[in-house]
Amino acid sequence: MTIKANPTFISTKDTADHILSKYDNFLFDCDGVIWLDEDLIPGVAEFIEWLKKNNKKFAFVTNNSSKSRNTYISKFEKLGIPGITKEMIYPTCYSASLELKRLNIPLGSKIWVLGDEGIEQEVLEMGYVPVGGNDPLLDKEWNINNPILQIDPQVKAVVVGSTKLFNYNRIASTLQYLLHDNKSIPFIGCNIDRTYPAGNGLILPAGGSVVNYMSYTAHRDFIDVGKPSKQFLDIILEDQGFDKSKTLMVGDTMYTDIKFGNDGLDGNSLLVLSGGTKFPDLEHLLQNPHEYENPESMIPTFVAESLGTFIDLIG
Ligand SMILES: [Mg+2]
Repeated sequence: MTIKANPTFISTKDTADHILSKYDNFLFDCDGVIWLDEDLIPGVAEFIEWLKKNNKKFAFVTNNSSKSRNTYISKFEKLGIPGITKEMIYPTCYSASLELKRLNIPLGSKIWVLGDEGIEQEVLEMGYVPVGGNDPLLDKEWNINNPILQIDPQVKAVVVGSTKLFNYNRIASTLQYLLHDNKSIPFIGCNIDRTYPAGNGLILPAGGSVVNYMSYTAHRDFIDVGKPSKQFLDIILEDQGFDKSKTLMVGDTMYTDIKFGNDGLDGNSLLVLSGGTKFPDLEHLLQNPHEYENPESMIPTFVAESLGTFIDLIG
Protein backbone atom coordinates (compact mmCIF):
# COMPACT_ATOMS: atom_id res chain seq x y z
CA MET A 1 0.00 0.00 0.00
CA THR A 2 1.34 3.42 -0.91
CA ILE A 3 0.91 6.04 1.71
CA LYS A 4 1.36 9.70 0.88
CA ALA A 5 4.21 11.64 2.44
CA ASN A 6 4.04 12.30 6.16
CA PRO A 7 2.07 15.35 7.23
CA THR A 8 3.77 18.72 7.56
CA PHE A 9 3.91 19.97 11.15
CA ILE A 10 3.14 23.61 11.67
CA SER A 11 5.94 24.43 14.05
CA THR A 12 7.76 27.40 12.52
CA LYS A 13 6.72 30.87 11.34
CA ASP A 14 7.44 29.83 7.75
CA THR A 15 5.07 26.84 7.84
CA ALA A 16 2.34 28.95 9.49
CA ASP A 17 2.81 31.74 6.93
CA HIS A 18 2.64 29.17 4.13
CA ILE A 19 -0.81 27.95 5.25
CA LEU A 20 -2.14 31.45 5.83
CA SER A 21 -1.07 32.67 2.40
CA LYS A 22 -2.07 29.50 0.52
CA TYR A 23 -5.69 29.45 1.77
CA ASP A 24 -8.38 32.12 1.56
CA ASN A 25 -11.16 30.07 3.15
CA PHE A 26 -11.27 27.95 6.29
CA LEU A 27 -13.81 25.36 7.38
CA PHE A 28 -13.61 24.67 11.10
CA ASP A 29 -14.93 21.75 13.06
CA CYS A 30 -16.04 22.98 16.52
CA ASP A 31 -15.66 20.37 19.30
CA GLY A 32 -11.94 19.95 19.92
CA VAL A 33 -10.98 22.75 17.51
CA ILE A 34 -12.81 25.87 18.71
CA TRP A 35 -13.87 24.67 22.15
CA LEU A 36 -13.90 21.79 24.59
CA ASP A 37 -17.45 21.71 25.89
CA GLU A 38 -17.99 25.21 27.38
CA ASP A 39 -14.34 26.32 27.31
CA LEU A 40 -12.76 28.11 24.37
CA ILE A 41 -9.43 26.60 23.29
CA PRO A 42 -6.64 29.15 24.00
CA GLY A 43 -5.72 31.38 21.05
CA VAL A 44 -8.86 30.62 19.02
CA ALA A 45 -10.52 34.03 19.51
CA GLU A 46 -7.28 35.77 18.49
CA PHE A 47 -6.92 33.53 15.44
CA ILE A 48 -10.49 34.26 14.29
CA GLU A 49 -9.79 37.99 14.74
CA TRP A 50 -6.65 37.63 12.61
CA LEU A 51 -8.65 35.92 9.85
CA LYS A 52 -11.20 38.75 9.85
CA LYS A 53 -8.52 41.44 9.73
CA ASN A 54 -6.84 39.71 6.82
CA ASN A 55 -10.04 39.27 4.79
CA LYS A 56 -10.09 35.51 5.08
CA LYS A 57 -13.45 33.74 4.91
CA PHE A 58 -14.54 30.97 7.24
CA ALA A 59 -17.45 28.78 8.28
CA PHE A 60 -18.07 26.18 10.97
CA VAL A 61 -19.02 22.59 10.15
CA THR A 62 -19.89 20.39 13.10
CA ASN A 63 -21.22 16.86 13.18
CA ASN A 64 -22.78 17.73 16.53
CA SER A 65 -26.56 17.81 15.99
CA SER A 66 -27.59 18.73 19.52
CA LYS A 67 -27.72 22.50 18.96
CA SER A 68 -29.45 24.55 16.27
CA ARG A 69 -27.67 27.34 14.36
CA ASN A 70 -29.38 29.95 16.55
CA THR A 71 -28.12 28.26 19.70
CA TYR A 72 -24.60 28.13 18.26
CA ILE A 73 -24.64 31.89 17.62
CA SER A 74 -25.25 32.44 21.35
CA LYS A 75 -22.51 29.98 22.26
CA PHE A 76 -19.95 31.77 20.04
CA GLU A 77 -20.91 35.11 21.59
CA LYS A 78 -20.79 33.76 25.12
CA LEU A 79 -17.32 32.34 24.54
CA GLY A 80 -15.98 35.65 23.19
CA ILE A 81 -16.27 35.19 19.41
CA PRO A 82 -18.71 37.88 18.26
CA GLY A 83 -20.13 38.47 14.80
CA ILE A 84 -20.80 34.86 13.79
CA THR A 85 -23.99 34.66 11.76
CA LYS A 86 -26.38 31.78 11.14
CA GLU A 87 -25.16 31.53 7.53
CA MET A 88 -21.66 30.64 8.77
CA ILE A 89 -22.70 27.60 10.84
CA TYR A 90 -23.44 24.10 9.58
CA PRO A 91 -24.42 21.64 12.32
CA THR A 92 -25.81 18.30 11.18
CA CYS A 93 -29.27 19.03 12.61
CA TYR A 94 -29.36 21.61 9.79
CA SER A 95 -27.95 19.27 7.12
CA ALA A 96 -30.54 16.67 8.19
CA SER A 97 -33.34 19.17 7.49
CA LEU A 98 -31.76 20.02 4.11
CA GLU A 99 -31.80 16.29 3.36
CA LEU A 100 -35.53 16.08 4.12
CA LYS A 101 -36.09 18.71 1.44
CA ARG A 102 -33.73 16.98 -0.99
CA LEU A 103 -35.74 13.77 -0.52
CA ASN A 104 -38.84 15.73 -1.59
CA ILE A 105 -40.64 15.09 1.68
CA PRO A 106 -43.56 17.52 1.54
CA LEU A 107 -43.29 20.52 3.87
CA GLY A 108 -45.70 20.16 6.76
CA SER A 109 -45.01 16.41 7.12
CA LYS A 110 -44.31 14.95 10.53
CA ILE A 111 -40.71 13.88 11.15
CA TRP A 112 -39.84 11.45 13.95
CA VAL A 113 -36.81 12.73 15.89
CA LEU A 114 -34.50 10.79 18.16
CA GLY A 115 -32.04 13.38 19.42
CA ASP A 116 -31.58 16.60 21.33
CA GLU A 117 -33.56 19.78 20.64
CA GLY A 118 -31.27 21.10 17.86
CA ILE A 119 -32.87 18.63 15.45
CA GLU A 120 -36.41 19.57 16.48
CA GLN A 121 -35.61 23.28 16.04
CA GLU A 122 -34.02 22.96 12.59
CA VAL A 123 -36.68 20.55 11.30
CA LEU A 124 -39.35 23.00 12.46
CA GLU A 125 -37.55 25.95 10.88
CA MET A 126 -37.37 24.08 7.56
CA GLY A 127 -41.18 23.77 7.66
CA TYR A 128 -41.73 20.27 9.04
CA VAL A 129 -43.41 19.10 12.24
CA PRO A 130 -41.03 17.31 14.60
CA VAL A 131 -42.49 14.54 16.79
CA GLY A 132 -40.84 12.25 19.32
CA GLY A 133 -37.78 14.26 20.45
CA ASN A 134 -38.48 15.28 24.00
CA ASP A 135 -42.13 14.24 24.22
CA PRO A 136 -42.77 13.65 27.98
CA LEU A 137 -44.21 10.20 27.15
CA LEU A 138 -40.65 9.16 26.21
CA ASP A 139 -39.47 9.75 29.78
CA LYS A 140 -42.18 7.66 31.43
CA GLU A 141 -41.36 4.34 33.01
CA TRP A 142 -41.34 1.54 30.42
CA ASN A 143 -44.84 0.25 29.68
CA ILE A 144 -45.76 -1.65 26.55
CA ASN A 145 -49.09 0.23 26.48
CA ASN A 146 -47.41 3.65 26.27
CA PRO A 147 -49.24 5.36 23.35
CA ILE A 148 -45.92 6.71 22.01
CA LEU A 149 -45.22 3.16 20.78
CA GLN A 150 -48.15 3.40 18.34
CA ILE A 151 -47.12 4.46 14.84
CA ASP A 152 -48.34 7.86 13.66
CA PRO A 153 -49.03 7.26 9.94
CA GLN A 154 -48.25 10.89 9.13
CA VAL A 155 -44.57 10.46 9.95
CA LYS A 156 -42.61 10.60 6.68
CA ALA A 157 -38.98 10.33 7.84
CA VAL A 158 -36.83 9.55 10.86
CA VAL A 159 -33.86 11.70 11.96
CA VAL A 160 -31.45 10.32 14.56
CA GLY A 161 -28.65 12.18 16.32
CA SER A 162 -27.01 12.48 19.70
CA THR A 163 -29.04 12.66 22.88
CA LYS A 164 -28.20 12.50 26.53
CA LEU A 165 -31.69 11.13 27.16
CA PHE A 166 -31.26 7.83 25.31
CA ASN A 167 -33.54 5.27 26.97
CA TYR A 168 -35.61 2.20 26.16
CA ASN A 169 -38.76 4.20 25.27
CA ARG A 170 -36.78 6.16 22.69
CA ILE A 171 -35.15 3.09 21.18
CA ALA A 172 -38.41 1.15 21.07
CA SER A 173 -40.56 3.93 19.60
CA THR A 174 -37.94 4.89 16.99
CA LEU A 175 -37.63 1.24 16.02
CA GLN A 176 -41.35 1.08 15.17
CA TYR A 177 -40.86 3.76 12.49
CA LEU A 178 -37.67 2.22 11.14
CA LEU A 179 -39.40 -1.14 10.68
CA HIS A 180 -42.72 0.24 9.48
CA ASP A 181 -44.00 -0.44 5.96
CA ASN A 182 -41.16 -2.79 5.09
CA LYS A 183 -38.51 -0.33 6.31
CA SER A 184 -39.51 2.23 3.69
CA ILE A 185 -39.49 5.42 5.82
CA PRO A 186 -36.22 7.32 5.12
CA PHE A 187 -33.69 6.97 7.96
CA ILE A 188 -31.34 9.95 8.30
CA GLY A 189 -28.37 9.71 10.66
CA CYS A 190 -26.74 12.97 11.77
CA ASN A 191 -23.22 11.57 12.05
CA ILE A 192 -20.95 8.57 12.44
CA ASP A 193 -18.79 9.96 15.30
CA ARG A 194 -18.15 7.37 17.97
CA THR A 195 -17.02 9.87 20.62
CA TYR A 196 -16.25 13.52 21.23
CA PRO A 197 -13.74 15.27 23.51
CA ALA A 198 -15.62 16.82 26.44
CA GLY A 199 -14.42 18.82 29.43
CA ASN A 200 -12.64 17.27 32.45
CA GLY A 201 -10.46 15.27 30.05
CA LEU A 202 -13.36 12.92 29.31
CA ILE A 203 -14.11 11.26 25.97
CA LEU A 204 -17.89 10.82 25.71
CA PRO A 205 -20.26 8.93 23.35
CA ALA A 206 -21.24 10.98 20.28
CA GLY A 207 -24.15 10.85 17.83
CA GLY A 208 -22.74 7.98 15.80
CA SER A 209 -23.15 5.71 18.80
CA VAL A 210 -26.90 6.45 18.85
CA VAL A 211 -27.30 6.29 15.06
CA ASN A 212 -25.49 2.96 14.83
CA TYR A 213 -27.42 1.57 17.77
CA MET A 214 -30.64 2.22 15.83
CA SER A 215 -29.12 0.97 12.58
CA TYR A 216 -28.16 -2.28 14.30
CA THR A 217 -31.48 -2.90 16.00
CA ALA A 218 -33.50 -2.04 12.86
CA HIS A 219 -30.97 -3.89 10.69
CA ARG A 220 -30.90 -1.18 8.06
CA ASP A 221 -28.50 1.48 6.76
CA PHE A 222 -28.93 5.20 7.18
CA ILE A 223 -28.27 8.30 5.10
CA ASP A 224 -25.25 9.98 6.72
CA VAL A 225 -25.64 13.75 6.48
CA GLY A 226 -22.48 14.60 8.45
CA LYS A 227 -18.80 14.78 7.61
CA PRO A 228 -17.26 13.12 5.59
CA SER A 229 -20.31 13.31 3.27
CA LYS A 230 -19.24 14.87 -0.03
CA GLN A 231 -22.79 16.05 -0.63
CA PHE A 232 -22.63 18.05 2.63
CA LEU A 233 -19.33 19.64 1.56
CA ASP A 234 -20.66 20.58 -1.87
CA ILE A 235 -23.65 22.32 -0.29
CA ILE A 236 -21.33 24.36 1.94
CA LEU A 237 -18.88 25.29 -0.85
CA GLU A 238 -21.72 26.45 -3.06
CA ASP A 239 -23.47 28.34 -0.25
CA GLN A 240 -20.30 30.14 0.78
CA GLY A 241 -18.89 30.60 -2.72
CA PHE A 242 -15.60 28.99 -1.64
CA ASP A 243 -13.14 27.84 -4.29
CA LYS A 244 -12.14 24.40 -3.09
CA SER A 245 -8.49 24.74 -4.10
CA LYS A 246 -8.24 27.71 -1.70
CA THR A 247 -10.19 26.10 1.16
CA LEU A 248 -8.68 24.28 4.16
CA MET A 249 -10.66 21.91 6.40
CA VAL A 250 -9.50 22.04 10.03
CA GLY A 251 -10.59 19.30 12.41
CA ASP A 252 -9.58 17.00 15.25
CA THR A 253 -11.10 13.72 13.99
CA MET A 254 -9.33 11.81 11.23
CA TYR A 255 -12.18 9.58 9.99
CA THR A 256 -14.64 12.48 9.64
CA ASP A 257 -12.91 15.90 9.42
CA ILE A 258 -9.69 14.91 7.71
CA LYS A 259 -11.41 12.52 5.32
CA PHE A 260 -13.88 15.32 4.49
CA GLY A 261 -10.97 17.63 3.55
CA ASN A 262 -8.89 15.00 1.79
CA ASP A 263 -11.67 13.51 -0.33
CA GLY A 264 -13.67 16.65 -1.01
CA LEU A 265 -10.98 19.35 -1.07
CA ASP A 266 -8.20 17.41 -2.79
CA GLY A 267 -6.13 16.95 0.35
CA ASN A 268 -6.59 20.38 1.92
CA SER A 269 -6.75 19.14 5.51
CA LEU A 270 -5.26 20.26 8.81
CA LEU A 271 -5.43 18.11 11.93
CA VAL A 272 -5.29 19.91 15.27
CA LEU A 273 -4.28 17.95 18.35
CA SER A 274 -6.41 20.05 20.74
CA GLY A 275 -9.33 17.60 20.71
CA GLY A 276 -9.95 13.87 20.53
CA THR A 277 -6.91 12.88 18.43
CA LYS A 278 -3.51 12.92 20.08
CA PHE A 279 -0.09 12.60 18.51
CA PRO A 280 0.24 8.82 19.26
CA ASP A 281 -3.07 8.23 17.40
CA LEU A 282 -1.66 9.88 14.28
CA GLU A 283 1.63 8.06 14.68
CA HIS A 284 -0.23 4.75 14.94
CA LEU A 285 -2.09 5.46 11.71
CA LEU A 286 1.12 6.39 9.87
CA GLN A 287 2.94 3.28 11.09
CA ASN A 288 0.07 0.78 10.76
CA PRO A 289 -2.05 1.93 7.81
CA HIS A 290 -3.17 -1.63 7.05
CA GLU A 291 -5.21 -1.62 10.27
CA TYR A 292 -7.50 1.10 8.86
CA GLU A 293 -10.09 1.22 6.14
CA ASN A 294 -9.01 3.85 3.55
CA PRO A 295 -6.01 5.07 5.61
CA GLU A 296 -4.91 7.37 2.78
CA SER A 297 -7.99 9.53 3.19
CA MET A 298 -7.45 9.86 6.95
CA ILE A 299 -3.88 11.18 6.87
CA PRO A 300 -3.85 14.97 7.21
CA THR A 301 -1.70 17.12 4.95
CA PHE A 302 -0.90 19.47 7.83
CA VAL A 303 -0.84 19.05 11.61
CA ALA A 304 -0.78 21.71 14.35
CA GLU A 305 -1.04 21.53 18.12
CA SER A 306 -4.06 23.86 18.00
CA LEU A 307 -5.36 26.94 16.20
CA GLY A 308 -3.59 28.96 18.89
CA THR A 309 -0.27 27.70 17.45
CA PHE A 310 -0.75 30.05 14.48
CA ILE A 311 -1.03 33.06 16.75
CA ASP A 312 2.03 31.96 18.72
CA LEU A 313 4.05 31.55 15.52
CA ILE A 314 3.00 34.60 13.53
CA GLY A 315 3.18 36.83 16.62
MG1 LIG B 1 -14.32 17.57 16.65
